[in-house]
Amino acid sequence: MRNRRAAIAAVATAASLALTLSACGQSGEGGSEEDKSGSEGATIGIAMPTKSSERWIADGDNVVKDLESKGYKTKLVFGEDDPDQQVAQVENLITQDVKALIVAAIDNKSLNNVLQQAKDADIPVISYDRLILGTENVDYYASFDNEKVGALQGDYIVDKLGLKDGSEKGPFNIELFAGSNDDNNTRYFFQGAMNVLQPYIDKKQLVVKSGQTELNQVTTLRWDGGTAQKRMDDILTSSYKSGRVDAVLSPYDGISIGILSALKSDDYGSKNKPLPIVTGQDAEVASVKSIIADQQSMTVYKDTRELAKVATNMVDALLNDKKPEVNDTKTYDNGAKVVPAYLLEPVAVDKANYQEAVVDSGYIKESDLK
Ligand code: BGC
Repeated sequence: MRNRRAAIAAVATAASLALTLSACGQSGEGGSEEDKSGSEGATIGIAMPTKSSERWIADGDNVVKDLESKGYKTKLVFGEDDPDQQVAQVENLITQDVKALIVAAIDNKSLNNVLQQAKDADIPVISYDRLILGTENVDYYASFDNEKVGALQGDYIVDKLGLKDGSEKGPFNIELFAGSNDDNNTRYFFQGAMNVLQPYIDKKQLVVKSGQTELNQVTTLRWDGGTAQKRMDDILTSSYKSGRVDAVLSPYDGISIGILSALKSDDYGSKNKPLPIVTGQDAEVASVKSIIADQQSMTVYKDTRELAKVATNMVDALLNDKKPEVNDTKTYDNGAKVVPAYLLEPVAVDKANYQEAVVDSGYIKESDLK
């Protein structure tokens, strides 16, 4: 079978396509029939980060379903949020002769060595949702517009506090939370939100009483809700002996649930102490229920069914010597190269539009929200 890496390089530019194909003496774009049958029945390795959050379980299921509908076999593994375990799993997939890898990394750098093994075995790699950093051995990136995720969260806070359109309202107290520092998405989410919030912090319409405003002060290792709950507890104790929290920037539903627990232990949500605005991400069932119950304020819905399709189409294109569709070739520099990406659009969801956005679209079953 023709060298897969050469095939990927060949589709990278029209010029190299012409050159490589003529050198190989093969037919034009789209690959020969021989190439097509080469991909049929191939096994694709899928490495997801954890089962502790329902989105990744759904991602895994959807990728498997989509690949199988295209005639592929699949091997799906989950890493229990342990980077070493994920490295071992990917290594194992390589030795099981998978023809492509779809990887949602736990730690964005720990996979570098194992991806060298993938390259040596001619296995193309799709970075799924989270960009893998510091290696050339990532072929494509399938994700959402991650900065926009943060912007939607920031916008929601600014809008609900009535700060938009030059209003002089405030000051309001806000606390900031970010995701895991080893996930490349974290800085995009935070940056997207801070682009919106920072001008109001500068004008003192928003005040961060804890003083914790730098990314390295507000990250939450492995996106853990319990860790966020503890940090919120500590902030309430140290910085809110007087005054109240009006808004919390939370990057992910599991973290939001932790933050809400801390707030409720401090009597927020009672009659005279309304809960602050609390953002989120992923439209997880527990959080959509919380939104319906007027606790969490919003989430950012990312249709992972679509993401699975994007990743699956990338694999299918690569294994058939076609060029995967991308819509971004500038944003995602992983330190070794700019990884061509296909980015989907995230959607802000609150009580006003959850029905249409996540129930009518079939993302969550109505009965699961009862
Ligand atoms: C994903 C988010 C998710 C978070 C925690 C991020 O990489 O983009 O959708 O909330 O990981 O699992």
